[in-house]
Amino acid sequence: MNKPLDHFYVTTSIPYINGEPHIGHTYELLTADVLARYARQQGKKTILSTGTDEHGGKVQEKANELKKPTKEYADLMSARWRELGPMVNMSNDRFIRTTDPGHEQRAALIWKALENDIYKSKYTGWYCTGCEAFVTESTAKDNKGVCPHHNRQYEKIEEENYFFKLSKYQNEIAEKISDDSFRIIPKSRRNEI
Ligand SMILES: [Zn+2]
Repeated sequence: MNKPLDHFYVTTSIPYINGEPHIGHTYELLTADVLARYARQQGKKTILSTGTDEHGGKVQEKANELKKPTKEYADLMSARWRELGPMVNMSNDRFIRTTDPGHEQRAALIWKALENDIYKSKYTGWYCTGCEAFVTESTAKDNKGVCPHHNRQYEKIEEENYFFKLSKYQNEIAEKISDDSFRIIPKSRRNEI
């Protein structure tokens, strides 16, 4: 277990494209780049990946605001984000758009593989479109109904959505994390998870 791997994959998070990239975003690109360059120096087969997330309510919201077709807006903004890596000499091997046909194909493959554990259900909760995330009842209350990151009201949203039966695998996952088959570093994050 834990033998040194000769393959190394690192990805940045993929930003939503409803806003312009700025210098703060380069911090994450550079830290991922440092990891990738270090791995390559050690002779590992390395892939460094970044890209843009183009599916989301706020992307569509922004496109509507600018009266542009969503795809046209996405093409424009994704190109702006793509320029950011080369500006800081990032050595990424891939730039993946979630609208790439290749990405869609692979997402479909994963969906297919997990199909038996995916089910449809309804979820109601407080939602911030800026975060693209639900918050708990108590968080909504603590923040007096306004997202502190986006200064906008949480909306009560009922959503029919797809869910994954994670609970079915809970014990197995907990075991694999405890015995380091799924290795999470640093230790503080491992404990958290
Ligand atoms: Zn928010």
